[in-house]
Amino acid sequence: MSRDVPRLVGQDLRVPLVGSGDARYVNLDYAASAPALEQVAAAVDEFLPWYSSVHRGAGFKSQVATQVYEDARGRIHAFVGARPDDVVVITRNTTDSLNLLAHALPDDAEILTFAGEHHANLLPWRRRRVRHLDLPDRPSDLAPMLAEAIRATASPNILVAVTAASNVTGELWPVAELTAVAHEQGARVVVDAAQLAPHGPVTIATWDADWVALSGHKMYAPYGAGALVGRRDWLQQRAPFLVGGGAVAFVSTDEVAWLDAPERQEAGSPNVVGAMALGVACGVLEAHGTGQMLEHEAALAVEAAAALDGIAGLRRLRLFGDDHPSIGVQSFVADGFHHNLVATYLSAEHGIAVRDGCFCAHPLLLRLLGVSHDDADKVRDAILAGDRAAVPGAVRISAGLATTSDDIAAVSRALDLLMTHGPSWNYRFDPADGHHVPDPDDRPMPALRALQPR
Ligand code: PMP
Repeated sequence: MSRDVPRLVGQDLRVPLVGSGDARYVNLDYAASAPALEQVAAAVDEFLPWYSSVHRGAGFKSQVATQVYEDARGRIHAFVGARPDDVVVITRNTTDSLNLLAHALPDDAEILTFAGEHHANLLPWRRRRVRHLDLPDRPSDLAPMLAEAIRATASPNILVAVTAASNVTGELWPVAELTAVAHEQGARVVVDAAQLAPHGPVTIATWDADWVALSGHKMYAPYGAGALVGRRDWLQQRAPFLVGGGAVAFVSTDEVAWLDAPERQEAGSPNVVGAMALGVACGVLEAHGTGQMLEHEAALAVEAAAALDGIAGLRRLRLFGDDHPSIGVQSFVADGFHHNLVATYLSAEHGIAVRDGCFCAHPLLLRLLGVSHDDADKVRDAILAGDRAAVPGAVRISAGLATTSDDIAAVSRALDLLMTHGPSWNYRFDPADGHHVPDPDDRPMPALRALQPR
């Protein structure tokens, strides 16, 4: 475990503010997507001259690229603490991984999820038979509720889909406990580790989970790769999720023989750079110490909670209460201010990046905000009629490797100013998209090649 925190690309970036001047960019939006580790970006630059096709090329660069790609698989396998016979399928992200698994399930499979999941761990299962369990008030009720639901499910092939850490409240889920209950009754478990993997240890074998899904862009490797890791059997019992080159042993006009996983589930030219970047990130995070990351961010979460609680008019959202362990993710509402105004103000006047809205977890947000079924129906009708003015939501701050107490102090100062004096700039609200924009917005865009006139 190293003492120095690995550096991130753009860590010292300054951004323009409305009016005049600039500020150090305070990134409190790691939960959405994280900047690249400097070591990852350096590895990508170093590899690019060697970039080539993998698996099928005889050229020397193809052999190097193939080795790099397969080596990345091994690093991801080690990072999640997988069993020797677990398969690592390189995907695009967690969403892709869970869709792939949903496709691969046996025909008679039934899926059980709690209603607090990210949409990526809710919607893919709706293509199959799924039951959503209500969220209990106490975490100690999760396992008994799951046990009862499994008992009431007739299929011999039950999959429990559960998150490791909530992307809304940051709360950790008792994955090992839920897995024990599931396995006792012959069910399997997939863990959505999108949010935990960049912030704490993912331990598939210790949890005794069957699969985990994760995303490189949240793990400081934003080059378009993610992974699904776990049991081989269900990944190779039917035709793959995507069909095409690379997934087959033999094809004729009326017959196809599929390869085994992982190749069977990786049709098309793979994302070699993305996989390599994810593999390098896994190595860097592991060397730094995932337990150390979790401790660092849990301490920041406590600081942030105390700071937010000290500002009149802010209310933090928790499912299980403050005693429950968390990663450095917190959501809150601000009395009298639209969630998007808070986020836009923090960026425009202070250079602080946060996220607002429902965080792709609508059922959880409605529950945390106490929105009734009737009110939710009214919101749905308004959205479908093109009016997002009253869409409920919250503001989320999320910490990462480079977050410091100064960042927490900066956001709490800015929020205190807002709650005491209101914003200092003018903002225009568009009910059609539910967004505020500074009016005028005089912040210049950076002179990036990608933004040069065509
Ligand atoms: N699950 C959780 C808990 C997440 O936070 C996210 C991303 N916000 C996802 C799944 C989906 O990840 P991706 O968009 O990378 O597929």
